[in-house]
Amino acid sequence: MSAFDPAIFSLNSRFDVDHLMIGGVSAVDLAAEFGTPLYVVDEADFLLRATAWKSALEGAFGTQAGTVYYAAKSFIAKEIARWVDRAEIGLDVCTGGELAVAESVGFSPDRIEVHGNNKSEDEIRHAISIGVRSIVMDSFNEIERVARIASELGKVQRVLIRVTPGVEAHTHEFIATAHEDVKFGFSLASGTAWDAIYAIENQPSLQLVGLHSHIGSQIFNSEGFAAAAKKLIGLLSRFRDSYGRELSELDLGGGYGIAYLPGETTLDPIQVLNELAAVVKSECESVGIALPIISIEPGRAIVGPSTTTLYTVGTTKEVELDGGLTRRYVAVDGGMSDNIRPALYGAEYWAIIANRLPLGPLCNTRIVGKHCETGDIVIRDIDISADTQSGDLLAIPATGAYGRSMASNYNHVPRPAVVAVIDGKARLIVRRETIADLLALDL
Ligand SMILES: *Cc1c(COP(=O)(O)O)cnc(C)c1O
Repeated sequence: MSAFDPAIFSLNSRFDVDHLMIGGVSAVDLAAEFGTPLYVVDEADFLLRATAWKSALEGAFGTQAGTVYYAAKSFIAKEIARWVDRAEIGLDVCTGGELAVAESVGFSPDRIEVHGNNKSEDEIRHAISIGVRSIVMDSFNEIERVARIASELGKVQRVLIRVTPGVEAHTHEFIATAHEDVKFGFSLASGTAWDAIYAIENQPSLQLVGLHSHIGSQIFNSEGFAAAAKKLIGLLSRFRDSYGRELSELDLGGGYGIAYLPGETTLDPIQVLNELAAVVKSECESVGIALPIISIEPGRAIVGPSTTTLYTVGTTKEVELDGGLTRRYVAVDGGMSDNIRPALYGAEYWAIIANRLPLGPLCNTRIVGKHCETGDIVIRDIDISADTQSGDLLAIPATGAYGRSMASNYNHVPRPAVVAVIDGKARLIVRRETIADLLALDL
């Protein structure tokens, strides 16, 4: 039943008699003023989640709480970088482009961590020269490259090693990154992580401060994180035995799960981090090392629930299925260009009619986009009011992460605008692309 479910909409959303309100602004007014498709970010929701992760980390690890690095890849824009700054958390970037957004608003480089499995020479040089806090090493090539560039710049760069601990997170295979057979990091089992330590220790322009792992995405309990942490702590203890000192930092990555569908629950930061802290503390005690400084990198868990996408319904049709059944197709004015996740890895979403009360019976419906691709599906299967019709406004919650950030111009469709809503006011934070923007690239 496609009703408004507060658990999957942003915190300041509600259904007010006959229309959806987000941050005190009517979805109908937002669509009229800014057009559709439209990403609507609940600013207070974003800030609350960012600070909730920060205080949960501090609560769980006390003086050893490191930094919450918001994963920019989940969605970054100038205004988002300002909010991250206002929440006094850090930023995890994995390209020069993401770093440029942070720099453009004066985000402090000493709260930036740089990721990526194939950082270019220019990206490395720039990151080191502006003084980013740390760079996470992903390959032997990169260790040499970063060491050479740091030395050319006369700097000593703080680095972490990305370790693939061989822990498989319980999630869809394509978004799990900690199997051994992946492009990221140094494998623990094969011994390359150990060799990476040696390679870094031999570079005077690199200061090895700790280890990093990121085990996947949409993870709903602390077990996977705890299992990875135990493996990394094993490596920390082996380091202490061989090198006679201790590495001080552990970054346990992101991947904290959120609710997309009714009945799902968003992971509670306090609960997951307290559970993780208990395992990390006892593991450190049992191997006899000091508790390292613990950092994390949530992306989806901060921005995902904050955003609702508004679409306008265009065409509808009935398609006959085997056995005399029919399926209703409802086509909206966006699709895989503004949300690739259903096509990319079968991600599921929910929708409600945002501009009126639904009438009549429910009907099995497939919500599709406007792109020339059969897989251009927003929601494969949803029971939604049978009277959903042209001109209706559909609201899809939990689209803040990997929506706009993965958006494309497929079919030469301009990417939608992003609007922030708070206290009854809406303001554009990323303007809608125009056909003229797209044509301006063609020479
Ligand atoms: C993708 C990624 C994250 C963020 O993942 P979420 O699922 O959005 O929390 C954090 N760190 C690294 C290294 C990543 O690759």
